Amino acid sequence: MPLKLIILDRDGVINVDSAQFIKSPAEWKPIPGSLEAIARLSQAGWRVVVATNQSGIGRGLFDMDTLNAIHLKMHRAVQAVGGRIDAVFYCPHTADEKCECRKPQAGMFRRIGTCYNVDLTGVPSVGDSLRDLQAAASVGAKPFLTLTGKGEKTQTEGDLPEGTQVFPDLAAVVAHLLDAR
Ligand SMILES: [Mg+2]
Ligand SMILES: [Zn+2]
Repeated sequence: MPLKLIILDRDGVINVDSAQFIKSPAEWKPIPGSLEAIARLSQAGWRVVVATNQSGIGRGLFDMDTLNAIHLKMHRAVQAVGGRIDAVFYCPHTADEKCECRKPQAGMFRRIGTCYNVDLTGVPSVGDSLRDLQAAASVGAKPFLTLTGKGEKTQTEGDLPEGTQVFPDLAAVVAHLLDAR
């Protein structure tokens, strides 16, 4: 059976986003229903991977220990409802650093494809910002926009990659994916 892989943005998809950045575990708060949605995926045999821009590192707003602590909280919160996040890929750079990994660049997606040895064509990829959708589309993944986080603004601004599907939140995306099978 082929690997069922899904790639999720973090801020605004799994947890509540903040214009001031998520700088501590205390500031990391799940969007209602998102943890349970990940658990549904896990229990249906999906590998759930996170790809997140974290320029707060490059800006010096928080350090790696803090990012690890935030992710430990996220992993534990998902585990507590019976799910699992397989891996978290992050870009620590600022836009000025012109790296290959910061979305809309495709570097994190390519790394995920390499690590899991999968062709990303058609792999569902969920985000709330245009750059998430652009990174996904550039490797042939299937972009899903949630209206949580920056999603409503992203939808209003338009110019979404062709084939982008829009859902209220991650729980609705997951319901669609699981019901479609
Ligand atoms: Mg986001
Ligand atoms: Zn980067």
